[in-house]
Amino acid sequence: MPISEVTAILEISNTRHGPAADLDEPSRRAGQHDHLSSAEEARRYLGSRGMLVPEHPPDEEELAHLRQVRDVAQAIEAEPPHVPSAPFESLLAHYAYRLSTDGSLIPVGSGWERFIASAIPGLLALLATRDRLRRCENAECGWLFIDRSRNRSRQWCDMGTCGSRAKMARYRRRRRAITSGHGDPEPGQDAAVETFERAAQGSMRRIPAS
Ligand SMILES: [Zn+2]
Repeated sequence: MPISEVTAILEISNTRHGPAADLDEPSRRAGQHDHLSSAEEARRYLGSRGMLVPEHPPDEEELAHLRQVRDVAQAIEAEPPHVPSAPFESLLAHYAYRLSTDGSLIPVGSGWERFIASAIPGLLALLATRDRLRRCENAECGWLFIDRSRNRSRQWCDMGTCGSRAKMARYRRRRRAITSGHGDPEPGQDAAVETFERAAQGSMRRIPAS
């Protein structure tokens, strides 16, 4: 499947996530984030993710369709269906395409209608590759990603961020177990851990793995 297609659909799917995935807020607001909470936020966030968004915010129906696209993608991960669900079918029925001379499909319409229509083939691609669609195991993240590892065992959306956080948490637990009863940890150890974590956060990728 074309990488760009999947990258785009994952961007829309990952507009709802935990605080660890909030890349554009250095303060990492607590709780779940919903970047389709309003039309303005939808346009701002998707644009900040490098997507070519229309000049105006989506209207009510378009925003509802963006949420529907996200819900369909999330549902494919949660309970992989074998055929498109009813909400998926209704999206398929809504959007129209014409055939270009090179055989590709060109969305009919403009603005958000065209933007959302461009994302629908990505949903079909997710359905086709549902056995590799995963949710990041960092409960504070929750991003969807495509597991392209040979043995299909990838757990994190990104090894450099969620993966290294998990490793660091394991390291801290182990160290606590070792040092308990043996006095304080060596001076400088905590500072080293903090530095490592900051470096890991700084390397957060802007594009979800696909
Ligand atoms: Zn993650």
